[in-house]
Amino acid sequence: MRENLINLAYLLSAILFVTGLKGLTHPRTAVRGNLLGALGMLVAVVATLLNRAVISFELILAGMVLGSLIGAVLAVRIQMTAMPQLVAVFNGFGGIASTLVAGAALYELRATGPENATIEFLVATTATGIIGTVTFTGSIVAFAKLQELTNIGGFTGGQIASALFLAASLGLSVWIGMEPGVADRYWYLVAVSAVLGVLLVIPIGGADMPVVIALLNSYSGIAASAAGFVLQNNVLIITGALVGASGIILTKIMCKAMNRSLTNVLFGSMTTGSSASADEVYGGKVKSTTAEEVAMLFDGANRVVIVPGYGLAVSQAQHAVRDLSDLLEGRGVTVEFAIHPVAGRMPGHMNVLLAEAEISYDKMKEMDDINPTFAQVDVAVIIGANDVVNPVARTDPKSPIAGMPILDVDKARTVVVIKRSLSPGFAGIPNPLFAADNTLMFFADGKKALLDLNAAIKEL
Ligand code: NDP
Repeated sequence: MRENLINLAYLLSAILFVTGLKGLTHPRTAVRGNLLGALGMLVAVVATLLNRAVISFELILAGMVLGSLIGAVLAVRIQMTAMPQLVAVFNGFGGIASTLVAGAALYELRATGPENATIEFLVATTATGIIGTVTFTGSIVAFAKLQELTNIGGFTGGQIASALFLAASLGLSVWIGMEPGVADRYWYLVAVSAVLGVLLVIPIGGADMPVVIALLNSYSGIAASAAGFVLQNNVLIITGALVGASGIILTKIMCKAMNRSLTNVLFGSMTTGSSASADEVYGGKVKSTTAEEVAMLFDGANRVVIVPGYGLAVSQAQHAVRDLSDLLEGRGVTVEFAIHPVAGRMPGHMNVLLAEAEISYDKMKEMDDINPTFAQVDVAVIIGANDVVNPVARTDPKSPIAGMPILDVDKARTVVVIKRSLSPGFAGIPNPLFAADNTLMFFADGKKALLDLNAAIKEL
């Protein structure tokens, strides 16, 4: 009876998760979707606590209090720009939790009788061990790279080493299956998988990092789902599968946004740097401008497109950019925002930032929709964006961002770039857009530049 009730509750929470995810597909229904998902999680947690297998409620409570404390401190203190690192760490923790759960199940088997271990149980346990641990160490490497603690790259023979470690982990899985009572063998599997995780993520770098984060997110879901099979817990199987599938879908969308295949992201050796140096690209060709000059440009403009990038987030200029948009619209100018799918440091970064300043979603245009219209744009204003407007992606096959679709701002009549210097963006390469004939560089902090610009427009 209790068992049935718990499974019914799990079914309800699975339905809530799915409808919640559906709600998240549109800004208007996103808040409700989020609430439904949270409600689903509450139902799942309460149902799990009703399980007779719970030994110590005190330990669970202690874990919840400690976890909530750490989570709350992290959520309050983390900078919006460091969100991808945080997501990387979360994925990693999810992975290692699954690994530990599967390990505990193997030890428990010693008490219940290893001879009762089914083949499904053994496959699920070893799969959880491999995928969970790969997710953990892979995410730690991704965290270190995003936090710029290391920029270590791949090495010759890396792919062969990965293949060997993968083969070893499969071999160890069979070894565990042969004598499931010897639970200590599991830690060899964990050690080998840990190295595999490092080997898989180390060669990936530069502009490909966002894809890796999405992929690791998917891995953490698959590991949780496999752990669900270990525990025979339906809600864990379903939620893990939801995370696994949505992570893969996001990975695919991001690969498309960068015009790369997943195999190319994972195994394609990173091309190192464009052939041109910063001096060659910029030497004597960069023109700088002032707030007053840009304000005058707007005076004769009909259509202005604003391109937000990472620098907008760093300088917290979202409210100032909204004021700029309002001021221009007040003068009869059509204003739109062009959003590149990987602008900023995480998917949807720019949309969230602009929405925070209550900029209407109708004004945010996706790359594919706005690109064909740049020739009809009077002024394109780039705020703290670099790689996502770098024409080298179209022209230099040796560049790390070769083939990545970019916003074609260089086709606008005039381009104004707001950033502090000629420093490169995330991919670390010079940007010929800054030296183009129709480009003016407005060297300043994003927010300060916009405040000055708004003041200058009011003076017109
Ligand atoms: P970039 O990293 O290419 O460039 C950001 C620019 O912002 C820099 O050149 C910097 O120039 C400028 N900047 C920094 N601080 C300020 C400030 N206070 N005021 C004004 N400007 C500032 O950003 P993009 O958004 O163009 O491109 C995103 C890049 O990040 C891509 O390569 C993408 O692949 C990658 N990425 C994306 C993720 C995602 O999911 N969206 C996740 C991880 C990486 P200066 O120092 O001169 O001011």
